[in-house]
Amino acid sequence: MVRGILFVLSGPSGVGKGTILDRLMNDFNGIKYSISVTTRKPRKDEKDGIDYFFVSTEKFQEMKREDLFLETACVHGNYYGTPQKYVEHCLSKGEDVILEIDIQGARQIKNKFKDTVYIFLLPPNNKELKNRLKKRNSETLESLKKRLKNADQEISEVNNYDYSIVNDQIEKTVQEIKKVIKKERSLRKE
Ligand code: 5GP
Repeated sequence: MVRGILFVLSGPSGVGKGTILDRLMNDFNGIKYSISVTTRKPRKDEKDGIDYFFVSTEKFQEMKREDLFLETACVHGNYYGTPQKYVEHCLSKGEDVILEIDIQGARQIKNKFKDTVYIFLLPPNNKELKNRLKKRNSETLESLKKRLKNADQEISEVNNYDYSIVNDQIEKTVQEIKKVIKKERSLRKE
């Protein structure tokens, strides 16, 4: 059985990763989204087991000690981790998987797996990123500031990714990511 392809999608908070992934998952067959574990509190319309597995810090640390994560990171003051079992299960069945993780997590994945495809989503500019984050209205002022402060550092990693896509228009971005996935699939068949 040919192993599936692992895709990593990163980008600063507010760039639109969630929206793009929702769209991608809805109309693109054959790629699985890995739901992360987090100690962050759920936002208004987030559901446990759909958006994230929401856990306490104690539970997260316990899972980490039990070696249940492929990678973990502390991002904007909360812990996040990718469950190992699900990703391995899908890849070994030949299914492609997409992880939506930050730059620290992406670095850890790079040390563990070769042949991963790294995609970075960029905002059209900093002002637009700020507008989007504010419009989302999901963060406290403190969290908003933290996210904006971390954005430059995240964007500075873009050169370590295989593809960078400016998320100007949702539809266009979704099409570009689909193109990347199709291209990578065809490359593996050669
Ligand atoms: P948010 O709190 O806005 O959902 O996510 C904050 C940041 O955490 C985003 O940059 C997102 O990509 C990242 N993130 C989400 N899940 C994971 C994960 O499992 N591992 C890592 N390293 N980062 C994650």
